[in-house]
Parts: sequence; C-alpha cells; structure tokens
Amino acid sequence: MAAIWAARHGAQVSLLEGSTQCGRKILISGGGRCNLLPTNSSIHDFYTSGSRNVLKRLFRTWRLEQIQNFFPQELNLPLEEEEATGKLFPQAQKAKIVRDTLLEAAVQAGVQVLCPFRVVAIEKFDDGFSLHQEEGKSLHCHSLILATGGMSVPQTGSDGFGYRLAKKLGHKILPTYPALVPLTSQDKELQQLAGLSVEVGWRAVKNNKTLDQGVQPLLFTHQGFSGPAILDASHWVVRDKAELLVAWENYSTEDWEPYLKSRVRQGLLKALADQLPRRLAALLLARSGLREDMRCGNLDRGKTQTLFRNLCDFPLPIHSNRGFAVAEVTGGGIPLHEINPSTMESRKCPNLFLCGEILDVFGRIGGYNFQWAFISGRLAGEQAAKSLLEH
Ligand SMILES: Cc1cc2nc3c(=O)[nH]c(=O)nc-3n(C[C@H](O)[C@H](O)[C@H](O)COP(=O)(O)OP(=O)(O)OC[C@H]3O[C@@H](n4cnc5c(N)ncnc54)[C@H](O)[C@@H]3O)c2cc1C
Repeated sequence: MAAIWAARHGAQVSLLEGSTQCGRKILISGGGRCNLLPTNSSIHDFYTSGSRNVLKRLFRTWRLEQIQNFFPQELNLPLEEEEATGKLFPQAQKAKIVRDTLLEAAVQAGVQVLCPFRVVAIEKFDDGFSLHQEEGKSLHCHSLILATGGMSVPQTGSDGFGYRLAKKLGHKILPTYPALVPLTSQDKELQQLAGLSVEVGWRAVKNNKTLDQGVQPLLFTHQGFSGPAILDASHWVVRDKAELLVAWENYSTEDWEPYLKSRVRQGLLKALADQLPRRLAALLLARSGLREDMRCGNLDRGKTQTLFRNLCDFPLPIHSNRGFAVAEVTGGGIPLHEINPSTMESRKCPNLFLCGEILDVFGRIGGYNFQWAFISGRLAGEQAAKSLLEH
C-alpha cells in the first residue's frame, strides 16, 4: 500500500521484498480467505501504549468507508461481508486475489518490484540511504519506507529483523510480545474438551480491575485455549499478566438463579447440560464438589455460590502462550511518539518513514490489522513521495 501511494504521487519507487514472494502473510490471513477489513471500527479496536489521540488523528487520514470503497472502485476487487461476524473478505474468498491485486496495482503505478531482495544492513548518508543485500549488492535511495512487519509467523519473512534495522537508524524498540495468540494450559481435564467451542463473556482482570471484556466464542484445544475470545484477550495475559474470567454462554448469576429455581426437581447435570455442552457441565459440577444427580432444589447457599463462581466467573488456568510461531501479530515495537503523525516520518532519522506492524499498534481480530497497515502505509507512501518531490 505504501509503494502504491508513493508511486501514485510521482515518486520513482522500488519495493524490496526479502522473502521469495511478496505478501506471504496476506496469503495465510483469515484462514486463506483474507479478512481484509472490518465493516465497522473505532479507536477502541486498537491497542498502543502510545497516545490514543495520535492514533485517532492517523485514522482520520483514511476513513474505513474510503478504504472499503478503494478496493472495489480503484482496484476492481469486490468485497463481501460475512454476516455472522461483520468481517469483510474478497468476494472470491481467496487471499491470493488480494495479494495479486495489490502487487498488480503497485506495478501499474510504476513500482519496480525486487524480489527476493533481503536487506541485511542500511547505511545512512546526507543524501539518502544505501540498502545492502547479503550478496554484496546494494541500492541507493533518497527516502526509505520501512514496512518490515513484526515477528509473528517468521517463515513469512517478517522475522523481527526490521526492528534491528530501525534500531540502527536511531529508534527505540518497546518490548515485543506475541499478541492475538492462543494460550496454553496444563489442566488435563480442560485439555480433554479439545474441539469444543463455547460462547463466553470474558473479562481480563488485574488487581480487581477489569482491563477489558468481550463476548465471543472460546475454543478448547489440546494445548489450552483459542478462538476469538482468547485471541482478543491474550495480550492482557501475555503483557499484563492479567487473569481471564469467563461466564459460559455469557450467562450471569441473574440468569442462572431463576433458571435453577424453575427446575427444583431436576438433576443438576440435566439442568446445566440443557444450556451448556454436557462435558463442560459435568466438569463444572465436579469442580464445584456437586453430584450430577443432585436436585437443583437441594443446593445449599455455600454450594450455590461455588457453582455460580464456576459458571459465571471461571478463572481460566493459563500456563503460557503459543508464541510468535502462531501469534497473529506482534505487540510493542517502535513507539508512536518517534514518528511525526502527519507524515509517518521518523523523528529520529530524516527521510525514513515507518508503517504497519513494526510500529507499536495492533488491532483485535476482524480485519483491523490490515486496516492499520493500509492507513499507515498509504500515509507513509504519500508523504514520502511529497517530501522527495519538494527537494
Ligand atoms: C496467521 C495470520 C493470519 C492473519 N489474518 C489476518 C486477517 O485475516 N486480517 C487482518 O487484518 N490481519 C491478519 N493478520 C495480521 C496481518 O497479516 C498483519 O498485521 C499485516 O500483514 C502487517 O502488515 P505489514 O505490512 O506491516 O507486515 P507484513 O505483512 O509482515 O510484511 C512485511 C514484509 O517485509 C518483509 N521483510 C521483513 N524484513 C525484511 C528485510 N530485512 N528485507 C526485505 N524484506 C523484509 C517480509 O518478508 C514481509 O513480506 C494475520 C496474521 C497472521 C500471522
């Protein structure tokens, strides 16, 4: 996106891709279908440890509706909404079409694509940069846009080396961590529920304070937990060591209380299993110290409280996370205050521009990360070209 907009604004642009093909991460995105954008978004869908006002300003430079129109109108790539989730996919439901269309648009705009060209070192001169390849080949440019991504799924080419390049050019790198990542558990009984997906109301809690919450499906896996609820909540656990509490099916005590009262003669397992997957219901009863055939009407106060805690505030026993190998994005990175938010130009190194996941911004699942990459990429490309042509 940065290359397209730089070329559209009259710059002579070379796109250097270190991997054997461009946009490999696009190819694996959205389960191979590429969830290109969300239908709606707000600033609350994004995370940064930097200024939210800066983020707001950046998002105003290319509004979601304009990006949604850009693909069908300017790139002839129609999008389709997945009704259940509100996610936008290419109508063809193939990520490859997105990658090919973007690459074609770059070439049509006059971009020279050099692939593979892995940059192993960058030298800064008064009049620009020299980008060096391992084989000794190098290329000189006046302005440089660093769009090397984060370090999640490193075999796609974004292996974190870009952070080292940025550091050499004077940037600070905030500690990086896997975000939007499945979590692991050593709880064997919960692991045995692998494959089960349950809607949950989740809360990330630290020191009795709720940091974030949502209502999404949770998937039990052989290693622990995944699914949209876990991916979106994971960074609170990985970065802030928060606890995750879930309400199964998002039912509260106020939902369960009258429900159980209306079934006083029924056995607990039957009553719970009418609302929850049976294996989960049985496990929650066992953990509450209750017999499956105990009648709903025979619960005493203490046992009811334990049961309600397990039903509505179940603390997920989390051990760790699955790491960068499977994380969808990288948290941390180059702090927002080290760029000029009007131009995406580095405040540390003139004529260097930064965009995408390398910066300390990421979105939740649902197309928000491409939205960020597109917004920051377009602005970086446009402004890099403008500053170049002004000289
Ligand atoms: C499995 C998975 C699924 C995802 N699904 C979605 C989704 O459906 N929707 C969504 O919005 N987001 C999704 N994401 C996140 C999204 O793909 C990224 O946030 C986005 O691609 C970031 O864009 P970027 O251009 O900043 O970096 P990247 O897409 O990572 O691109 C960086 C490029 O720089 C190249 N590079 C790195 N170092 C060098 C170097 N030294 N020299 C030359 N080239 C270099 C890399 O090879 C790479 O091609 C997913 C991520 C993963 C891992």
